[in-house]
Amino acid sequence: MEKNLKDFKDRLRSLGLKVTPQRVVVFQELIKRKDHPNIEGILSEVKKLFPDIGQATVYSILRLLTKNGLAQEIGTFGGIRRFDGEAKTHPHFICINCNRIDDLDVPVKRDTVNLQLLISKNTGYKVTNSFFTFYGYCPKCKGRVKKHFKNGG
Ligand SMILES: [Zn+2]
Ligand SMILES: [Zn+2]
Repeated sequence: MEKNLKDFKDRLRSLGLKVTPQRVVVFQELIKRKDHPNIEGILSEVKKLFPDIGQATVYSILRLLTKNGLAQEIGTFGGIRRFDGEAKTHPHFICINCNRIDDLDVPVKRDTVNLQLLISKNTGYKVTNSFFTFYGYCPKCKGRVKKHFKNGG
């Protein structure tokens, strides 16, 4: 955590950006959480320290972080914006029933790189980043769906 925070501050400075307490708190909140929060989820935590901060400010900080490779935004069904303090490509699982987002502990890193190279080689595109997202039902919703099908046919 401390190391992450130091890297974060160094990164901001190297980009010529100010290290403000608000930016630090938003980043800390992001790396602390593993549930890939939405803006409201981050805002409610940040407000505990900065009661006057608004959603627009938090959103502009999140934009700044994702734009500069310090965090990533995850697209979901319904377009709800969710955020991740881990900026490196890693696979996600999104539950289509409850919108829970988990990190998947499967090694897709090398495959991702190979796929990016293949696309760059065979098309006119230069791929710089990619996302691995799998959709389905989380363990909790899986049970409910099964029950639903059993009862309802
Ligand atoms: Zn679920
Ligand atoms: Zn993640």
